[in-house]
Formats: sequence, C-alpha cells, structure tokens
Amino acid sequence: MSGAADGTVSTELAAARKRLQAAGIADPLLDARLLIADVTGFSLTDFVMKPDHPVNPAESARIAAMIERRVGGEPVHRILGHREFHGLDLLLSKETLEPRPDTEVLVDTLLPVLKKAVSAKGSASVLDLGTGTGAICLALLKECPEATGIGSDISADALETAAKNAARNGLASRFETVRSDWFKKISGSFDIIVSNPPYIRSDIVTTLDREVRHHDPMAALDGGQDGLAPYRLIAADAGRFLVENGIVGVEIGFDQRLDVSAIFASHGFSLLDAVKDYGGNDRVLTFRR
Ligand code: GLN
Repeated sequence: MSGAADGTVSTELAAARKRLQAAGIADPLLDARLLIADVTGFSLTDFVMKPDHPVNPAESARIAAMIERRVGGEPVHRILGHREFHGLDLLLSKETLEPRPDTEVLVDTLLPVLKKAVSAKGSASVLDLGTGTGAICLALLKECPEATGIGSDISADALETAAKNAARNGLASRFETVRSDWFKKISGSFDIIVSNPPYIRSDIVTTLDREVRHHDPMAALDGGQDGLAPYRLIAADAGRFLVENGIVGVEIGFDQRLDVSAIFASHGFSLLDAVKDYGGNDRVLTFRR
C-alpha cells in the first residue's frame, strides 16, 4: 500500500510506484507522481527539490485511494478529473472524451488559418461540432484573442463541462455552447468549422483498449458501421455554415484519409492540407469549397 510509515513525499512515491508496478500499470512512476502531486500541491520538480516534505495521514489516505483506482484500470486523468491540453487545464466529465495529445495537431493546423482570417477582418469565428470538453475550440480562442467560438454537442453534460472549462481558462466571454445534433440547431456562418467526431468503426469500438472502452464515452468514439457516418453529415451541411473561403478541419482515424477526402469531395470540397500526428499517422484534414 502507499501509506508510508514516516510519511514523506519520497516514501509515498516509492510505495505508490511499487504498487502500480506490481499491478502491471504501464508508467508507474509518472502516474504515481501525477496523483501525489494533485494531493500535495507539488509540481513535478518539487519531487526532486523537496523529497522530505511531510505527508499527513489524511493526504496519505487520499493518495492510497487514488492509487487503488489506478490499479483498477481507471486512467490517471479520469481520477484527477482534469488534464492539460494545448496549454489549457480542462475538466473531464462522464460524457466527454479525454482530450488526446494528437488532437493538438488539429489545433496547430487551424491556428494559422484563424489568425489569417483575423488579420483580414479584425475578428473571426469558430464552430466546434461535438466539442466535448471544449478542448479544440478553447485552445484556438486562447491563442487567438480576437476570435469567438461556439462549441456544440448533443450531450448536455459535455456542454456544462465545456462552459466550465471556458470559465476556468478565462475564455467565457468569447465562447458559447449550443446543444445540437450536428448542425440541427446551428445558425450563422463561421470562418472555421472544426470537429473531432467519433470515427471508430462500431465493430472495433468493443475491442479498444480497456481503459478507453470503460472510461471514454462510446458516443464520442463510435462512428457507425464504417466509422465515417459523422463525416458524411458534416460534409453534407458544412457549406451552408461557412463564410466565403471558410475552412473545415477534421480529425480522422489513421486509415481514413482517402475515404474522408472522397466524402468531402462529393460535396464540392477540395483538400487543402493533410497532416500527420506525433506518431506519423494521418490525423488531420482541412478542406475548402
Ligand atoms: N483517437 C481516439 C481513440 O483512439 C478516437 C477519437 C475519436 O473517435 N474521435 O480513442
């Protein structure tokens, strides 16, 4: 157990690491640090600077409880209830997908597009379909102070979380949420329409890693029989909600570049950019009409 006799951060860390390692957790030291940091208010460098910092019994009990949740397979950021994405601290909730580092590539691809629109007109707008935690839209707004955005989602839980995330990152005045099934309740036109839709084939969703399958919402993962259903919906209607020369940017599965390009092409869009993720897989496509 992680409850340590003499109660310092370093004895807690050693015990927690040992417990996670014995349970077969992939990255026991990092996970132990993240969980202990959350309870003690430590930064990751504090572990080196202040190893003898005392840990009181109440803190020790909280650490032990978190470590046991991790042993049970709950992802570390679900236990913490928040995670970092593109420099933002984002709350997670039941119906939000945990933002993935690879999705930062989508933000970085669209940022120059958004900044260009701002420099041409003085302001610009973003629509993020299936916003979840708000990650993509909020990261764009954070980097581009003249921009405004709408995060839409079919999940009320997700929209509540996205609104909280806007507030905790100082972006509430430029971010609005709209409860909508894709474009159904959307009005107006946007410089950028962005989405990281569910894109996993229904037959594969059940074979995903246990930590994903049990802790990320299925509605954010399951893209229908061929994993492409959301792209068909987005491509069919995006033209009506884009300003002239507006851009659509989507995250895709590693093997979906050709299929998604064909879907958008059939609605009059041409591929602008195809970008790979940190692992070298196709991950982001942008289109214009
Ligand atoms: N990249 C996510 C995963 O592997 C899938 C996200 C999605 O379907 N949009 O779990």
